[in-house]
Amino acid sequence: MGSHAVRDGKGHRAYRRRQAALKRRTAVEDLPCGYGSTHGWGCGNSIDTTLPPTHSLSFTADHDEPLAGGGKLLGPLVPMHRSCNSRKSDHAAVEIWSAS
Ligand SMILES: [Zn+2]
Repeated sequence: MGSHAVRDGKGHRAYRRRQAALKRRTAVEDLPCGYGSTHGWGCGNSIDTTLPPTHSLSFTADHDEPLAGGGKLLGPLVPMHRSCNSRKSDHAAVEIWSAS
């Protein structure tokens, strides 16, 4: 069939760029976990973006609006700790980006 998953398309590359940009901004501006979330996710502590992706407190970029709940792929991204992100996953579909 002609329809590809949105994650494989052009939008996904733009999305990855936005995640990378958010990671840089988190490092430079010391954005707290959950910064910009309108849903109150995140613990509010700073994120060490130099931690390896496997670390529980490493940087992840999360959709504030869950994709499964109608959120847009290019909607707002929120910096979060991996551990906080996975706590949220109890409530929503979560994409964890392993930054390397
Ligand atoms: Zn956190």
